[in-house]
Amino acid sequence: TKWVYSFGEGKAEGRADMKNLLGGKGANLAEMSNLGLPVPPGFTITTEVCTWFYANGKQYPAELQGEVAAALASVERIVGTKFGDPDNPLLVSVRSGARASMPGMMDTVLNLGLTDVTVAGLARRSGDARFAYDSYRRFIQMFGNVVLGVDHHHFEDVLEEVKRDRGLSYDTELKAEDWQSVIAGYKQVVENELGRPFPQDPQEQLWGAIGAVFSSWMNQRAITYRKLHDIPASWGTAVNVQAMVFGNMGDDCATGVAFTRNPSTGENLFYGEYLINAQGEDVVAGIRTPQHLTIAGKDANGSTLPAMEESMPEVFRQLDEVRLKLERHYRDMQDIEFTVQQSKLYMLQTRTGKRTAAAALKIAVDMVGEGLISEKEGVLRIEPKSLDQLLHPTLDPKAKRTIIAKGLPASPGAASGKVVFTAEEAEKAAEHGEAVILCRVETSPEDIHGMHAAQGILTTRGGMTSHAAVVARGMGRPCVAGAGELRIDYKRGTITVRGVEVKAGDVVTIDGSTGEVMLGEVPTIQPELSGNFAELMGWADRFRRMKVRTNAETPLDARTARKFGAEGIGLCRTEHMFFDADRIIAVREMILADTEGGRRAALAKIAPMQRQDFVELFKIMKGLPVTIRLLDPPLHEFLPNSDAEMAEVAKAAGTDIQKVQHRAVQLHEANPMLGHRGCRLGISYPEIYEMQARAIFEAAVAVFKETGETVTPEIMIPLAGTKKELDILKAVIDRVAGEVAQASGHTVDYLVGTMIELPRAALQAGQIAQTAEFFSFGTNDLTQTTFGISRDDAGSFLPDYQRAGIFEHDPFVTLDTEGVGELVKIAAERGRNTRGDIKLGICGEHGGDPSSIYFCEKVGLDYVSCSPYRVPIARLAAAQAAI
Ligand code: PEP
Ligand code: MG
Repeated sequence: TKWVYSFGEGKAEGRADMKNLLGGKGANLAEMSNLGLPVPPGFTITTEVCTWFYANGKQYPAELQGEVAAALASVERIVGTKFGDPDNPLLVSVRSGARASMPGMMDTVLNLGLTDVTVAGLARRSGDARFAYDSYRRFIQMFGNVVLGVDHHHFEDVLEEVKRDRGLSYDTELKAEDWQSVIAGYKQVVENELGRPFPQDPQEQLWGAIGAVFSSWMNQRAITYRKLHDIPASWGTAVNVQAMVFGNMGDDCATGVAFTRNPSTGENLFYGEYLINAQGEDVVAGIRTPQHLTIAGKDANGSTLPAMEESMPEVFRQLDEVRLKLERHYRDMQDIEFTVQQSKLYMLQTRTGKRTAAAALKIAVDMVGEGLISEKEGVLRIEPKSLDQLLHPTLDPKAKRTIIAKGLPASPGAASGKVVFTAEEAEKAAEHGEAVILCRVETSPEDIHGMHAAQGILTTRGGMTSHAAVVARGMGRPCVAGAGELRIDYKRGTITVRGVEVKAGDVVTIDGSTGEVMLGEVPTIQPELSGNFAELMGWADRFRRMKVRTNAETPLDARTARKFGAEGIGLCRTEHMFFDADRIIAVREMILADTEGGRRAALAKIAPMQRQDFVELFKIMKGLPVTIRLLDPPLHEFLPNSDAEMAEVAKAAGTDIQKVQHRAVQLHEANPMLGHRGCRLGISYPEIYEMQARAIFEAAVAVFKETGETVTPEIMIPLAGTKKELDILKAVIDRVAGEVAQASGHTVDYLVGTMIELPRAALQAGQIAQTAEFFSFGTNDLTQTTFGISRDDAGSFLPDYQRAGIFEHDPFVTLDTEGVGELVKIAAERGRNTRGDIKLGICGEHGGDPSSIYFCEKVGLDYVSCSPYRVPIARLAAAQAAI
């Protein structure tokens, strides 16, 4: 095995497609070298070393030492310096780099190789003692913190003390001698904390940093991040060692980060920030206010500091060329890091840039227009779940707003919630279902769980590339960053600005698209789904095979779903129509009646309302298929609870309360989910399904007579396990159909089908299909009945199962393709064998889950059906599954 891959001098042993082995950073450094871009030379220790490290009690493979030495020698040769050389020392950076970028791991150690001896060499060679000693103290601080685990504040205390002693206020005022005092203090801190001196052997430093990167793969933050993003622990991280270049050697030096297009809006403009005379982390740390790269960016943000385009025009021109080259090569928006050392540009990183859903859409559509990618690639570029960000409400432009501050529009969308100041509070509030805005001076990887729990994120420090901004965009959380006018006082639990005080628990609204921070809750409106969204969805619709329907029973849901592109209703749960205030009493009366006559009397009250429900749905769906499921109530949901409710029902039924109470006790079930529900109710009381069938047919006739639109209802029988159940109930439906045709003089075409929700139904699908003209997989119940896990009780132990690694995903969210999926496959095959043209769909929650939709495509279902807001997600996921 080869453990180490070198890059530099316009060539590399690795390539961009070797991410699994070299990590994202390493693979792209290699690729940039191969492209001839100015990359400082270095080498990557592979992810396989990380795996080996953990499999072998944190040891390294025997050959590693030699390979690292050889790679380091090659860097020395290219740069013309030597690691540890007292006169002309090579300094390196050591950075982690997993396949997917992972905040939460050890990030970077810079200036490694500096010691009491080499620092003097660096001072002589650079002719800048201040720079050399500043670099050394930065190194001790970084190495001391991330490798040796010494807390930051110890170092800060030393620095503050030196400044106080000399009467200095700014770091920039410290001279070489001052930094030397700081260094002495820092070294003392390390010795006090660890009981041994700061390592003076560059080799020891190097291996210490390498070990720290590998160890950070298993730190708590990294583990949490992996869990949130479904990254397997088995991937491991790589380590990148690279010759240092310095952005802090004077005013002809700079360091910066940039996106090749705007990551928030997708606009095709170079978007980035830089700092003159600064090193790496200074830009993201938010200590100094970064300057914009372009004049356009500067103007758009009202900045008064000169843009790089103005202050370093020649280097900017080179960088702009690199931008074009990278986009052409990678054919995607890139997120880059660069350093300028004495007017020479160096590229330190490139990777596919994280972006908001809106930006992803615009970039995909633009790149298709520019001929960089095909329409299919454009469709594949969008994460289906991310569309959610675009479907949700934005602030009503007409609403009154009390704006208290304006920060950077770091991640779009509007959010309102109570102010909290810590990630822990955010998480706690979320557990209680409370909406909160997490307000921090700045965020760090420790805050990720709280950012996840919050509705929105507000920071008072940091730019568009600050931690808060990047992470929020990735999560799709609205975020306003760097609202510098706000003063957060964690101790008092307040935010103040110009005499206004907001306390913890007060409600604020943030608009991540404009950067505005407002008092109170501001009303929102529905978004327009035109432009890029419509364009891309149009492509998706062309590529997909499966239809997408919606689960809807109210006119509002049906209309929303149509707007989102639903091609019919896949599940109308009629029991949901029975809860409305104007009919619940009659429904209870019907359920509690102990004679057929009593039930029919109650049903007669419900029938006209039910008919009207269907008329509305048919009209909204304008001839598109509508699947109506006959009543499937877990009985307990309908039983009256209180004496008052019992009295109400008794009055409506013209009977006394004792009788009602007695019947309620009779109907009580120990296990309602497996009780008298679904078609079992229809078998016991066929008059219920008779009423519903009549309402459906009469509604179809009425709509036809009124609008001329032909409705072909699909009547669906729930929770069947046998062909016999279907035979009995289909006979009822067929009889009613005949009666309505006779009475109205209009014959309605219709289908009768069933849900597949029980393992027996799946296995007997061949027999069942003799009667059923379509199947809809009710994977909520099918998951419940296959696993024998109650839908209603799973929440209490599923987390344990996920922690123990028994379930990778919640099977009620993402289809268990192995078990439940096998039943789906069997049922689809057996159903088709019996009835070649049988229609097959899915209407469980899984119908809106992208990876489950992928499975449905593979099994060859005809359609998926999901809740209205998931319809666009399903359209896109179905297209991606078909491509
Ligand atoms: C199902 O079981 O998957 C289904 C769609 O029906 P319900 O959720 O109403 O039980
Ligand atoms: Mg069900």
